[in-house]
Amino acid sequence: MNITIKTLFTSLSIGAALSFLPTTSAANQQPEFAIAIHGGAGTINREKMTPEKRKQYENKLLEAVNKGYALLEKGADSQQAVIAAIQILEGSPLFNAGVGAVYTFDGDHELDASIMHGKTLNAGAVSGVKTVKSPIALAEAVMEKSVHVMLSGEGAEQFAKQQALEFVDNKYFDTEFRYKALQRAKKKLAKKERELKDFQAAHATLDNEFKFGTVGAVALDKSGDIVAGTSTGGMTAKRYGRVGDSPIIGAGTYANNQSCAVSATGHGEYFIRYHVAADICARMKYQGISLQEAADTVVNKVLVEAGGDGGVIAIDAKGNIAMPFNSKGMYRASRVQGEKAKAAIFADE
Ligand code: ASP
Repeated sequence: MNITIKTLFTSLSIGAALSFLPTTSAANQQPEFAIAIHGGAGTINREKMTPEKRKQYENKLLEAVNKGYALLEKGADSQQAVIAAIQILEGSPLFNAGVGAVYTFDGDHELDASIMHGKTLNAGAVSGVKTVKSPIALAEAVMEKSVHVMLSGEGAEQFAKQQALEFVDNKYFDTEFRYKALQRAKKKLAKKERELKDFQAAHATLDNEFKFGTVGAVALDKSGDIVAGTSTGGMTAKRYGRVGDSPIIGAGTYANNQSCAVSATGHGEYFIRYHVAADICARMKYQGISLQEAADTVVNKVLVEAGGDGGVIAIDAKGNIAMPFNSKGMYRASRVQGEKAKAAIFADE
C-alpha cells in the first residue's frame, strides 16, 4: 500500500496532486497489486514448439493472468484473483491440472490442489480427488469452511458434496495427448522393470517429460495481502495414491505477508523433502534477503545440488515477483500494476 500517496491525495486538492504525481511504473514506486502464474516447468522442447502451439500457450497464460489482474484492479482480494486465474488454467487441456491432467498408472486422474492466505496463514488442501470439477475451489472450501487444512480422497469428495461444489465424471479430465504419454510411460516402465526387476527403481528412471505441468498463481492485492495457490494432476503413471508437493503446505504452496507467497512446479518428491515454498519465505524472513535471492538460491542451488528439477513463482508484499526455474522451460506470466502482461516459456525470455 502506498500510504504516502494516499495521504497526499487527502491533504492536497486532487488537481494539484495529479500535476506532479508520476504513474506507478514511471516513478518505479511500489505497486499496489500484482499477479504471477505458472503452467508448469519441465522439458519443454523448443524444436517441437510450433508458432501455433506457442501462441495457444501464451494466449491461455495471458487470459489467466489478465483475469486475475482485472479482478485485483477492481479491488477484489488476492484470493479471488488466484482462484480465478487457476480455474482458467484448470479448464484448459494445455496444462496438467483439471482438464488435461496426467493419468495415473491405472488410467484415471487423481487431482491435488492447495491454497494459502498470507495474512491469516489459513490454508486448505486436497489430494487424490477424482470427480470434483475444480480442485482449487475445493481447496478453498477446505480453507474457509472446514476445521481442517487437508482432506484426501473420498472424504474430500464427501466434503465437496456438502459444499455443493460442481462434480464431473473422471473422464471429463481426459485428453488424448496425456493418454499417449501414459502409454509411452508404461512401455518404458515395463522395459525397465524387466531389466531392474523392481517397479520403484524403474519408475525412478522415467524422464522429466512425465513429471511436470502443474498450474499455480500468486497475487498481491490492494490491502497488501498475498495468496498462493497450486493445482495439479501430479505425475504420469503415479501409483498407490501417490501425493506430490502441490497439496502440501510449505512444499508446493506457501504464503505469509511477512515474507512471500510461492507456488511451485517440478519433481514433487524433491519439493517435499526440501520444503521448497516455505524455505524461500523463511530465507527472506531470517536472512533478510530479497525475494529474488531467496527464490534463486533454493531453485538454482539447493534443488540443483539435490537433483530436483522445476521452478517457482513467488511474490512479496511489496509486489516484487521472482520466477526462477532450473528446467528447460516454465510456462509463466505476470502483470504488475500499470504494466502490460508478460508471458514466457524458455529461460532466455
Ligand atoms: N509438482 C507436481 C507433482 O509432483 C508436478 C508438477 O509440478 O508438474 O505432483
